[in-house]
Amino acid sequence: MKKTYVGDTPTLIGQEVTLYGWVDTKRDHKKIVFIDLRDRSGIVQVVGMDDLKVLSSGDVVCLRGIVKERPEKLRNPKLATGNVEIESVECKLLNKSEPLPFPIDTDGYEINEEMRLRYRYVDMRRQRLQRNILFRSKFIRSVRDFLYQEGFIEIETPLLTKSTPEGSRDFVVPSRMQPGKFYALPQSPQQYKQLLMGAGFEKYFQIARCLRDEDLRADRGFEHTQIDLEMSFVERDDVMALDERMITKVVESFGYTIKEKPFPVFTYHEAMEKFGADKFDLRTEEDKANGILAFAWVINFPLFEKTDEGGWTFSHNPFSAPLPEHREKLLKQEDIGNIISTQYDMVCNGHEVGGGSIRNHESSALRSVFRIMGYDDGTIDVQFGHMLEAFRLGMPPHGGIAHGIERLLMTILGEDYLREVVAFPITAGGKTAVMNAPSELSPAQLRELGIEVIG
Ligand code: ASP
Repeated sequence: MKKTYVGDTPTLIGQEVTLYGWVDTKRDHKKIVFIDLRDRSGIVQVVGMDDLKVLSSGDVVCLRGIVKERPEKLRNPKLATGNVEIESVECKLLNKSEPLPFPIDTDGYEINEEMRLRYRYVDMRRQRLQRNILFRSKFIRSVRDFLYQEGFIEIETPLLTKSTPEGSRDFVVPSRMQPGKFYALPQSPQQYKQLLMGAGFEKYFQIARCLRDEDLRADRGFEHTQIDLEMSFVERDDVMALDERMITKVVESFGYTIKEKPFPVFTYHEAMEKFGADKFDLRTEEDKANGILAFAWVINFPLFEKTDEGGWTFSHNPFSAPLPEHREKLLKQEDIGNIISTQYDMVCNGHEVGGGSIRNHESSALRSVFRIMGYDDGTIDVQFGHMLEAFRLGMPPHGGIAHGIERLLMTILGEDYLREVVAFPITAGGKTAVMNAPSELSPAQLRELGIEVIG
């Protein structure tokens, strides 16, 4: 059977069409019944008689009908299909719905989060979420197109990997074959993407899933997806320029206006002095009203910061290199608080929407970072021996960047929560949408993993 999308009906006046979709709303006027039929392309009004009486919101139907032009005064200018309606010939019920848990013809902000996420597949039927999820798909496609054109190669890196000190708590996975040992889920593909530079791919990217066991906030979840890239034989300005071109091209292709190009660059020092923070909003009230995006870069962060215990830790990423003129200080482990990093962060409308650096590619420099952090050589070798070894086997100079897609999209779309751009987000209480994880394991599963749950 030939299937027509609702959105195409205005071009098919006088023809018989077969539509598939959901009953959005029903208005029963006794003799005559109207339904709004919704599919992925839009909504159209259907008019019928007894055949439509049994329907209610949420039902899935196959509807055969004739496309009729509406008389001038009955047109609905608010609907893209408002100049037509479908006269029902035959309506087949494909799935009867129970009453829906909440309305889907609103923007949904007014509905309790637990409810929205428990019935996320219903929640996502609302127009706002359809738009956000579709935008996300188009946005990623546009990023991919740009990077392929620039000669990047898309490579997947493992999800089961080793615990790394990237600044957050790891999610761990017990090993069945080696009881008592654990994998960690990646906080980012950082080490693997550097190893890919050692493998000679030169320009890598991945739309990468990252997992961090952090306290949940409006702009931070357990899982996020990064546009992750890495390049060899580059300096700081090369990565920043490539990345800025990518963001500019992609964002403008969707009709958004960027406040200032090239993006203004602030040193960390300047940003702290001017805004009191390393992320800031450069928009005026008028810019805000007009949906303008104010991107900026922050550079020249200190490589290390003091820990509460009075030692040192990396400020962003243990793999970041210092500025070339600060390399000696790092190797000599001198003047530690004043070693400046090659780190660059991208901010937009008050959010940090990306960050990266040129990396250390010499084993002596990486070892110095960990020594400054108070690790002894034995620990460094156990934890990072694989990186130090790779750095001794022909590692090109390299650097990269990653953008948290959800944070970026939320900023662009003007949403306040990450969950508004994620199909199945986690609740503020850490439960998965619909599926209700985490859940208990059976005693047999625990036994097989060599795990005993205490307390
Ligand atoms: N791996 C870093 C992060 O996840 C990004 C980068 O430096 O490329 O923040």
